[in-house]
Amino acid sequence: MKKKKISILGSTGSIGTQALEVISKMPDSFEVISLCAGDNIDKIREQIKQINPKNVCVKSDANAQILQKEFKNINVMYGESGLNNICSDTENEMILVAVSGKVGLKPTLKAIASGIDIALANKETLVMAGDIVMKRAREKNVQILPVDSEHSAIHQCIKNINDVQRLIITASGGPFRNKTIEDIKHATVEETLHHPKWNMGKKITIDSATLMNKGLEVIEAHHLFNMDYEKIKVVVHPQSIVHSAVEYYDGSVIAQLGFPSMHIPIQYALSYPQRLVGIKTNSFDFVKAARLDFEEPDLDKFPCLKLAYEAGKAGGTYTVCLNAANEEAVYAFLAGKISLWNIYEITKKMLENYQSITNPDIDVVIEQDKITREKVKKLINL
Ligand code: NDP
Ligand code: MG
Repeated sequence: MKKKKISILGSTGSIGTQALEVISKMPDSFEVISLCAGDNIDKIREQIKQINPKNVCVKSDANAQILQKEFKNINVMYGESGLNNICSDTENEMILVAVSGKVGLKPTLKAIASGIDIALANKETLVMAGDIVMKRAREKNVQILPVDSEHSAIHQCIKNINDVQRLIITASGGPFRNKTIEDIKHATVEETLHHPKWNMGKKITIDSATLMNKGLEVIEAHHLFNMDYEKIKVVVHPQSIVHSAVEYYDGSVIAQLGFPSMHIPIQYALSYPQRLVGIKTNSFDFVKAARLDFEEPDLDKFPCLKLAYEAGKAGGTYTVCLNAANEEAVYAFLAGKISLWNIYEITKKMLENYQSITNPDIDVVIEQDKITREKVKKLINL
């Protein structure tokens, strides 16, 4: 059997390491030709020894030089140009974009331009430039396969998108579902990083606590499935068993269920249109699942979700502003500079004073992203 050649951007992260676990169980089906990471040189060193890829890319020149000395037969690159080189290598049949934050956008566009299918974990890419990314993917006949569990669930439930009247995206509700606004305002970084259901990277874990993650996912779903915002409903489901659902015009609702595991959406995206099984989770036990609860999201406690809907509906570069403001604020919260609630306040303020640009090209997106980040940094340091 021919192996599918894959590169992994963000191989040292939560999604990246789980993807490598899945792939290691299917050595006859996949070959990893490139690994890309940021600063975690120890982990990528370990991965290089295990996988022996053709290319490696890390964030800094200094780390690239260290690795190049250690691994003479591997092509070690660094930074944006390194990521671009890897994403232009047409030996790739698929690229898993699992870096976090805005770093995902340019490599994704490069891979699309090179005609390479994408398994997309990095939702920020679609929040920043969903119209551009999806248009270019259509023009190049490139598949964008969702790795995010909700979007994977929807993808698995859709037969014909024209028959779908509504998408229902589930949310666990995060660590503060049962807390008061006052508790949320005083939440520590440690409490916020303690997600009840999923073990993920820091940025998405903070976003999950504010429900901004769900807002970003609504925008992601709008682009992936070409669905109006009015037809995308978020429902809180604390057990995280129903990963999302699709409602057809005839009233039939099809949902995807399972105990929480990112291995399933990762291997589904990597092996689509097949459904290869590298890691098999235990058979689903309805009795063990027992109860499935659903409730409306509380927008007073989690106003970031509302901001994301508003930015998405307003269109133009509002979502660029939303994404950049939120991301910078999240990093500031993690650095102990602001409170959790400030993330909402800062993002709201940035959106209120923002002049959106309609139908932006990619240079405008990148510029607006930069401008917003500079404004947020200035605001936080005042
Ligand atoms: P992590 O923080 O765990 O991992 C991020 C990865 O990106 C790391 O490998 C990191 O490298 C790498 N990275 C960061 N900056 C750069 C850079 N400048 N150049 C190259 N590589 C870089 O994040 P997650 O795996 O949790 O999330 C990744 C993406 O997937 C996010 O967009 C998230 O929203 C999405 N996602 C994640 C889910 C999850 O369960 N984790 C679920 C659904 C979506 P290093 O550590 O070496 O610095
Ligand atoms: Mg998700």
